[in-house]
Amino acid sequence: MPELPEVEVTRRGVAPHLEQRIVEDVVLRREGLRWPFPPNLRELLVGRQILSTGRRGKYLLIHFEHGVLVVHLGMSGHLRVLPEGTPLKTHDHFDLVVNGPEGRQVLRLHDPRRFGAVLWHGHDDGELAQHALLRGLGVEPLEDGFDGALLYEATRNRNAPIKQVLLSGDIVVGVGNIYACESLFRAGINPKTPAGRIGRARYDKLAEAIRVILADAIVLGGSTLRDFIAVNGQSGYFQDTYFVYDRAGVPCRNCGAPVRQIKQGQRSTFYCATCQK
Ligand SMILES: [Zn+2]
Repeated sequence: MPELPEVEVTRRGVAPHLEQRIVEDVVLRREGLRWPFPPNLRELLVGRQILSTGRRGKYLLIHFEHGVLVVHLGMSGHLRVLPEGTPLKTHDHFDLVVNGPEGRQVLRLHDPRRFGAVLWHGHDDGELAQHALLRGLGVEPLEDGFDGALLYEATRNRNAPIKQVLLSGDIVVGVGNIYACESLFRAGINPKTPAGRIGRARYDKLAEAIRVILADAIVLGGSTLRDFIAVNGQSGYFQDTYFVYDRAGVPCRNCGAPVRQIKQGQRSTFYCATCQK
């Protein structure tokens, strides 16, 4: 599943091809994906200028003067910028056609499992932050306001294991399964530890680990881009550098003990029982 770093790399990849461009066409090839497409999207967007791009959690935001196009890549989707006329592939569901110095280009959403989304939030619909999909989201891990103090304060009444609390996304967004496992390893915290029992100093380490790991993944994702067209929707740009994720039974890179795999809430957790207390 595309995680926060992949979505951020996607945003950085498509931004130069979209920002300040005028939308010339919108093509919807089905009724919708996870939710119906806005039926009037063409009327809303054709002739309008894209002001900027942004991201909230794993939602890509394309800002217009009159509202925001909200795009989610679902379980296996990806976006590419292609020359107009590029032949369609199966599962290409949505095109945003823009003009630009390179001629007409197409932002194309490919989504085989159709868990993705293309939604419109007009300025008349109120604050974007209050959108039903966005209002429950925790803070952005790479922005100011995310630190050990926040993790500590927000977990005083949480008895669930720290891994589950990270994955829930209501305190901090973007720490999916891979990044949760790797961050807890880096911070030396056992993933089964109840969140409310972890002290402030350890949360300082965890917040720093989350920041570094997500930032490194974004840099690695960006470094794989010769052109944005090279981006794919696969998870984990830094899979060669995993310490514990997907390494069950393999010696820990730190201490040599075999990495353990357990299930927490239907998801696999990987950790080192020696390095993570
Ligand atoms: Zn170890």
